[in-house]
Amino acid sequence: MSKITMSTPLVEINGDEMTRIIWDYIKEHLILPYVDLKTEYYDLSLVKRDETDDQITVEAAEAIKKYRVGVKCATITPNAQRVQEYGLKRMYKSPNGTIRAILDGTVFRAPIIVSCIKPFVRPWVKPITIARHAYGDIYKCQEFRVPTNGKAEISFTAENGEKLFHETVFDFKTPGVLMATYNKDDSIISFARACFEYALSTNQDLWFSTKDTISKKYDHTFKDLFEEIFKKEYKAKFESAGLTYFYTLIDDAVARVMRSEGGFIWACKNYDGDVMSDMVASSFGSLAMMTSVLVSPDGNFEFEAAHGTVTRHYYKHRDGEKTSTNSMATLFAWTGALKKRGELDNNAALVEYANKMEQAALTTIESGYVTKDLASLAELDEIHILDTEGFIVKVKEIYDTMA
Ligand code: NAP
Ligand code: MG
Repeated sequence: MSKITMSTPLVEINGDEMTRIIWDYIKEHLILPYVDLKTEYYDLSLVKRDETDDQITVEAAEAIKKYRVGVKCATITPNAQRVQEYGLKRMYKSPNGTIRAILDGTVFRAPIIVSCIKPFVRPWVKPITIARHAYGDIYKCQEFRVPTNGKAEISFTAENGEKLFHETVFDFKTPGVLMATYNKDDSIISFARACFEYALSTNQDLWFSTKDTISKKYDHTFKDLFEEIFKKEYKAKFESAGLTYFYTLIDDAVARVMRSEGGFIWACKNYDGDVMSDMVASSFGSLAMMTSVLVSPDGNFEFEAAHGTVTRHYYKHRDGEKTSTNSMATLFAWTGALKKRGELDNNAALVEYANKMEQAALTTIESGYVTKDLASLAELDEIHILDTEGFIVKVKEIYDTMA
């Protein structure tokens, strides 16, 4: 059988620990036998980042801008303990944060659904994808403990020195707390574009919610900018794709989401997205079954697993013990990237291969062949727990029997 060829490379970003081990198994068993893989390779292991003073991370992000599609392995975000463990020159920033800043991207998180794992929220039969605006608000705030009685004031001075406003926030007659947050129009607009692009790219409706009835300027600006970008740039495209953009108050959105069957993208402000993505993930079962895509407003895509490097399993693996680590999210990052590459290059064979590989992986689990994390979640008569590589080999076996 001849291998599927690729006309353009995708950006391959390798990482750390257990996910790096899984990375090689996936390539060896599930990709290289079928695809004449073309990648531009970046090694973002902590050792390599240290060697290059983290320049490699910047180069990887630039490469995604050039080739438009990347796939990334989980990477360690160093803390003090890691600096010691790896003897690092300094405590590098999160690679995901660096890449997201360069691509100006929004992260979309979606669960991988299998029929044998019933979501805790009964009506959810299709994935709910959360888009989180990962910029500003309380994550970039100035906050204070107010120790004593007194007046809290807020003012704004324009660049030319003109004082545009000066207001009392609260006249404290008791100790309390105080916080100032901000956001930027251009960041909100990028977020909106990334959401509309991703909705079109995945053929799903887009919901957006804020608390605009209470926050008549702050949240209302989000609502207005989304509406403006939608009308100007996306309304016609949504209509011809048969898709809907739907804005509603966050309370109403929560109530509707709980009763929905899923199958849409829910765009959230920073804090709402932080909270809601964990709620959605836990209802669908396991962090190991969550995928994540970074989408830039100009339509560049980086696929990855939502989980980290699974350190605890890696230490076992390093000590020669068997592990049973779930490779689904990392595999779906690869198939997602290959599928997107295929779509952009009009490479139908590559798209077909990626779809079939995803189907093989789902069938593997639905036939009762699972890693340990799913054993207690899957509702099946017979369950076989496989080790990390054994699961991937089983997926290949099933793929090879598919027409
Ligand atoms: P984690 O790697 O996601 O793992 C946390 C726990 O979740 C694991 O110990 C395991 O539970 C379970 N788990 C996660 N993925 C799994 C999988 N594929 N199969 C089976 N079980 C899985 O999070 P962490 O331990 O907090 O972080 C480890 C390292 O990852 C850190 O250095 C952090 O900086 C990095 N990280 C990277 C990214 C990224 O690159 N996107 C994201 C998050 C964290 P049990 O141990 O109970 O089996
Ligand atoms: Mg959270």
